Amino acid sequence: MPLAQLQDPALLKTDAFINGQWRSGAGRFAVTDPATGRHLADVADVSAGQVREAIAAAEAAWPAWRALTGKARHAALLRWFELLMQHQQDLARIMTAEQGKPLAEALGEVAYGASFVQWFAEQARRASGEMPAAPAPGQRLLVMRQPIGVCAAITPWNFPLAMITRKVAPALAAGCPVVIKPAQLTPLTALAAAELAARAGLPAGVLNVITGTQTAAYSQALCESEAVRHMSFTGSTQVGRVLMAQCAPTVKKLALELGGNAPFIVFDDADVPAAVQGAFASKFRNAGQTCVCANRFYVQAGVYDEFVSRLAGRARAAKVGNGFEPGVEIGPLINEAALQKVQQHVDDALAKGGRLAAGGHALHGRFFEPTVIAHARADMLCAREETFGPLAPVFRFETEAEAIAAANATEFGLASYFYSRDVARVFRVSEALECGMVGVNTGLISNEAAPFGGVKQSGLGREGSAHGLDEYLEMKYVCLGGL
Ligand code: NAD
Repeated sequence: MPLAQLQDPALLKTDAFINGQWRSGAGRFAVTDPATGRHLADVADVSAGQVREAIAAAEAAWPAWRALTGKARHAALLRWFELLMQHQQDLARIMTAEQGKPLAEALGEVAYGASFVQWFAEQARRASGEMPAAPAPGQRLLVMRQPIGVCAAITPWNFPLAMITRKVAPALAAGCPVVIKPAQLTPLTALAAAELAARAGLPAGVLNVITGTQTAAYSQALCESEAVRHMSFTGSTQVGRVLMAQCAPTVKKLALELGGNAPFIVFDDADVPAAVQGAFASKFRNAGQTCVCANRFYVQAGVYDEFVSRLAGRARAAKVGNGFEPGVEIGPLINEAALQKVQQHVDDALAKGGRLAAGGHALHGRFFEPTVIAHARADMLCAREETFGPLAPVFRFETEAEAIAAANATEFGLASYFYSRDVARVFRVSEALECGMVGVNTGLISNEAAPFGGVKQSGLGREGSAHGLDEYLEMKYVCLGGL
């Protein structure tokens, strides 16, 4: 049992965290290990009434939290960061157990998730206003930035810690309390992080975690509340649209990090072995279940065959298995529906003339072989939809204009990648791609210092970076006259 080996067993929490207390729910729901199907824990299934309690607790905690100096909030967040890193091993074990990603990746996510807490601890001290020059005599103009109020965060299962800290850390740094609703499939990492926040001394009500299965009722309670002034959601575009509509009656500020369909372009002038390495990292980490995952590979005719054969070789060499086994690079898919979607995309691509270069088959349980399909075409499902699994379809192109047009032919615009050694092309293509983030000669782009987010139907707003704090601050303009 992976969770029997925690160094600090007290991190395994199964109750919701409301107003500084661990609370059982109206019932309980099971959390299972996607690698083995084994039962891990029964977690509190809260009622909509308990969500309203969490909102009320956050509202009550707000005046004291916002009244603290930025320096005091910096200190509290820094203690949380240190505890997250001290418990990196345990948090990673919990994450691998409930989400399936290889332990090395889980350790990486803990460090990545904690980096937002450290970053925004620093930013807490740097929030500032402006004093623009007045256009009329006898006036002074002042622009102050104030915390927006109670914030809600709804997060997905693919990054059980980082998607939480990327929202919660800036909200707390800005002086806002938060109610978090983590994904039903991965609540244990969120609860362990909340336990560490409590140990770091965060006051009751400032951070609340509601767990459960009645997702629509929770989002309704959060969205219809006048007290909740900000809703931040990471997940599918489909649910993002629902939340957008639900937030309309109370005119809430909304941040949406939604789905992607990232293109990965390899030009003839690229370093092909480096492009294959980047492609493998971008496509297959987290078994392809990453919103910024490359979904479509466009490779120029001159290097097409070499790229396909090298990527197929790399995919065949990858070890698939339980994330706790040493050397495993690809873990299970999160559930049966995810596995079936990959199979459907593979079958569709093969039926439409795709050539299997590697993989193509489901293994035991929820494991799927890392798959490379050559001769991919625009009418395949995998060209239009996010596969969210270990499938790399490779399209051939002749000209730069053709590649850019194909890359942009999607309603999504989260991440894009390309490999080229031509400096003029690097600028030209970076400017032409319709997306929020571009990886040039790299397959890994996410970090706390960079603004993360998308355009088109991939979402609204940016997380991380110096801009991440703005999301949780309202501007207030004060005009001083008669001076
Ligand atoms: P999802 O939209 O199904 O679920 C995300 C969260 O929303 C979960 O907490 C879920 O319980 C909740 N939810 C589901 N239905 C809801 C409803 N009707 N009302 C309110 N909340 C609801 O997404 P998922 O399957 O957990 O995650 C995968 C998706 O998330 C992919 O599309 C991926 O691209 C996207 N994603 C985006 C980013 C980003 O930063 N842009 C990051 C990670 C994942």
